Amino acid sequence: MKHLATSLEYFQESVIREMTRKAIENDAINLSQGMPDFSPPKELTQGISRALKQDEHQYTVTYGNYDLREKIAEKLSLYNHITADPEDEITITCGASEAIASSILALINPGDEVLILEPWYENYVPITLLAQGKPVFVGLSEDTFNLNEESIKEKISDKTKLVILNTPHNPTGKVFTSSEQNIISDMCQDHDLIALTDEIYEHIIYDDEKHISLGSISGMEDRTITVSGFSKTFSITGWRLGYVASEKELMSGIRKVHDYLTVCAPSILQKAVMQSFQLQQTYFEELKERYLKNRNFLLKELNKLDFNAFKPSGAYYLFADISSFGMKDKEFADFLVRDKGVATVPGTSFYQKQEDRPNQGQQYVRFSFSQKMNTLQEAIKRIKERI
Ligand code: GLN
Repeated sequence: MKHLATSLEYFQESVIREMTRKAIENDAINLSQGMPDFSPPKELTQGISRALKQDEHQYTVTYGNYDLREKIAEKLSLYNHITADPEDEITITCGASEAIASSILALINPGDEVLILEPWYENYVPITLLAQGKPVFVGLSEDTFNLNEESIKEKISDKTKLVILNTPHNPTGKVFTSSEQNIISDMCQDHDLIALTDEIYEHIIYDDEKHISLGSISGMEDRTITVSGFSKTFSITGWRLGYVASEKELMSGIRKVHDYLTVCAPSILQKAVMQSFQLQQTYFEELKERYLKNRNFLLKELNKLDFNAFKPSGAYYLFADISSFGMKDKEFADFLVRDKGVATVPGTSFYQKQEDRPNQGQQYVRFSFSQKMNTLQEAIKRIKERI
């Protein structure tokens, strides 16, 4: 189409979101797009009624409701060990997705290189391309998805500007350790790079793993753009409330982009989400407990059915090897959604197709386990019955 921008030729619409549409068309259980099928805490829904009574219908300042920014600053300090001034170092965005987009667009000049750990969450690549940057892929190790120092260092060039770290990681559920984060931190400091972290699953973490924020590592305070949000922690993915924190100069650029992209996140929901700060520690423990049970159930059942799923330490996805079924990812995901009534995401959506490795990701599909236990049980029943 001659009228469309050429940058659009290099990427396609999100396969994750496409699979949600296929789930609807096929009346399938949606284990593709990561979103809960249960209600958020009642304090949050009550927060909407309260905000309605307060007539919160107009724009907030573009950076977001100040009280909310203050609460986020407290949380960043306590949970992430990051100091950010609510005045000029925090911005509330339309989901973590917009925080990521605004940050990349604010930093990248045409030709700048962005290091992306592969497999990756879909959004990073199209936004880099829209900014006319060049995504440079750093393969995580096979099977364990660990970060190897040599693999990342060999990808640095004099055009490298930004590295993106997503922990806990989508699609694998890998949680990056402090030694892996130190590799990135040393590299950023040695080569004057900026890091963008996507920490949206920071509260969904299992076993004895701990969430580490790259921005809390000494020397990274002023070179890390920390992104998180409320969607996953409070089961409100449709509210589109995320945020970004960074030192003020970077933030002034990010704010310019954010302002023209979206003006502000929905004011009524910004007000309502303030209620999340009233929730006690037990809320966070119960959330982890729920997802831990889901993880253990789905992992066990899928492996019984000849999938070979990586055990995630965080987030709510299972990245499952499907080699034993003799089908490629897309064919298999289509078969699951049409014939079994279960939607998943084909593995190639998380990999760049490369000439020397054209088959990357074809041996995987991603299952989300962000649903009620009953939903997961029904999905397994469907797969079992018809396999
Ligand atoms: N993070 C979710 C996933 O990977 C989707 C987020 C979105 O669609 N904005 O499924």
